[in-house]
This record gives sequence, structure tokens and C-alpha cells, in this order.
Amino acid sequence: MVHNFNAGPSILPKEVIEQASAAVIDYNNSGISILEMGHRTPEFTSVMEEARVLVKELMDLGSDHEVLFLHGGASTQFMQVPMNLLNPKDSAAYADTGVWSSKAIKEAKLFGKVDVVCSSKERNYIDIPNDFAVPNDANYFHITTNNTIFGTQWQTIPKTSNILVADMSSDVFSRQLDFKTFGLIYAGAQKNLGPAGVTMVVVNKNILGKVKHTIPTMMDYRNHISEGSMLNTPPVFAVYTCMLTLRWLKVKGGISAMEQLNNEKATLLYNEIDRNELFSTQVAKKDRSKMNVCFTMKDSSLEKPFLDFVKQHGVVGIKGHRLSGGFRASLYNALPISSVKFLVELMQSFEQKQ
Ligand SMILES: *Cc1c(COP(=O)(O)O)cnc(C)c1O
Repeated sequence: MVHNFNAGPSILPKEVIEQASAAVIDYNNSGISILEMGHRTPEFTSVMEEARVLVKELMDLGSDHEVLFLHGGASTQFMQVPMNLLNPKDSAAYADTGVWSSKAIKEAKLFGKVDVVCSSKERNYIDIPNDFAVPNDANYFHITTNNTIFGTQWQTIPKTSNILVADMSSDVFSRQLDFKTFGLIYAGAQKNLGPAGVTMVVVNKNILGKVKHTIPTMMDYRNHISEGSMLNTPPVFAVYTCMLTLRWLKVKGGISAMEQLNNEKATLLYNEIDRNELFSTQVAKKDRSKMNVCFTMKDSSLEKPFLDFVKQHGVVGIKGHRLSGGFRASLYNALPISSVKFLVELMQSFEQKQ
């Protein structure tokens, strides 16, 4: 039995893996594989449509918001967002809360002025800044809702009169938010939604078409909206697998049911980190991520033995990111609570052995 704590690509529901692999052999008794199917066939257009409808339903979105499935990963959104929303003479506001935020900032600077309204960089990103103001005239305000590498998360979404743009790659569908209030949300699928190769974008169409410059065809969200994410060949298999995950999510009770479970999982692990004499975490308590739990050992010479110990018991993917060190246990939607309980037990038995 393997317990998969990978940060991304990461664990998917077992049912989804089973259905996706069956479709690779034979899609719905069609005699052909999903990998061999044209994207403009009725079979696939209905998959795309169902994925879109499920996102809208799960996020409780209205007719202003469009759902897109694009290529290029969340990293392409770092440039696509400013290309569509930032006028060269204007500025965009960004919160710098980690590596992914700073990469987004770097790209935005290619298109206009960037106002970094707050940063936790000096503290090695162990918290979310809470004292800042966003200028009224900023074209939009960009946040990274969950910082995958450092294990921090905005517990409440900052109130702003600006268009709010969020990179939700590592916590999308993990907790209930008022998604309608966002101008644009993007997420690489490979953390909480599906396999690598597709990026979900949710955009309020009323914010588009305001920049004066010409946008390359493939970069203009409006073209993807009018073509239903089929401006060119979409990543058919990745979209299909996302759709299966969205179906699974709905059956499991939707985002609020997931949130409850995710809270339980995170509480279990943080309680053990706080209780266990061997472990600690640098992350500010108020900002602890419920998706990526980063922690270290007080005696760093024990880290390698602990890693070997959990590995022997089938725990996969808890080595920390090279920038933050220590450990990182990712508790995405598909990770069962039993895996978290198991990791906690291993932490306890390792403590007893010392
Ligand atoms: C993983 C991640 C990214 C990068 O995603 P790609 O799809 O690999 O480009 C961006 N932002 C956040 C918050 C992430 O966790």
C-alpha cells in the first residue's frame, strides 16, 4: 500500500484512475481509445461541455464567468493574465508570497508597471503579509491563494475593489470561496484536479477587451471563449480526466464536503507536528496551508533516517522542496484521511524509537 503525498503531479482518486485507464483501452465501447479520438467528435465535445458545466456548478458561478481548459500550465498564465488585463501605461498590483508569486510578478513586468503591495520574502515566505493597501487604479490585484512550496495559504481572501486575479493551482476545489467575486482564477490541473497538461481558467468575461494593444490569437482569452477551449487541439485526455475528477468531487458532496475533510486531515497532521518533540514548523500558525504541510526536524540529522523509515512503510513524496528543505506532505482532495493517520502513526513510532 502506497501513501502518496506528492506535491504535483499528485494523487488522483482511485476511481478516476480506473475510469481513465479503461477509456485509454476503449472509450465507452466505441472500439477506439480516448487517445485516438477527434476533439470535434460529439463524444469529446460533450466531455468538454460536462467539464465546463461541472466547474460552474461546483463553484456556483453565474453567466458572467466562463470556464476554459488551456495548455501551457499555470506558468503560461503568468504572462497571459497581464497580456489580457494590463495596459502598458497602467499598473497591476501583486502580493509576493512565494516562488510562484514572484514568477508571476516577473512576467507581468514585461507588459506594464507592477506594484508589489506586500511581500514576505524577507522572512523566507513563512507567512502571508496582512498589512497592505492596493491602489485603486491598479488594473487588477493578483494573489497566490496557496503557496505550494512554503506551505502558507490565504485563510481569507483580501477584500479589494480591484479586479481580483488568483493563482489557485494548489488549492482549487479544496475549500469554499465566493468564486463569483474573482475576475480571473487559474490553476494547473496537476495538483487538485487532474493530470498534468491542462490548465483551468475561470474568467469573468466583462473584464476582457479593455487593453489597447493587440493580443496574439492563442493568448487572447476571448478567442478561447468563443471557440469553447477548442481554438486548437485541446489536451483531450487531460480534459477527460479532469472531468472524471469533477464528477467524483460532485458525488463526494462538492467543495464544502471536501473542505471539511481537508480541515480534518490538516488538523491531524499539524497537531502531531506541534505535539511531537522531534518535529516543528516554521510556518506562521495563522497562515498554515491545509494543502501543503511543510515541517522540519529539530535535529536535522534525523531527517534522512525519518525519510528512510517512512519510505519503508510506503509513504511517498514527503521530501520538502529544495528551497524550503525538511518535509512537505501534500494533502490534496484525493488523499484519504487514513493516509494522514498513517503518517502521524509513523511520526509517533519514530519518536518512540529515539
Ligand atoms: C505548481 C504551481 C505552478 C506552476 O504550475 P505549472 O502548471 O507547472 O506551470 C504555479 N503556481 C502554483 C501556486 C503552483 O503550485
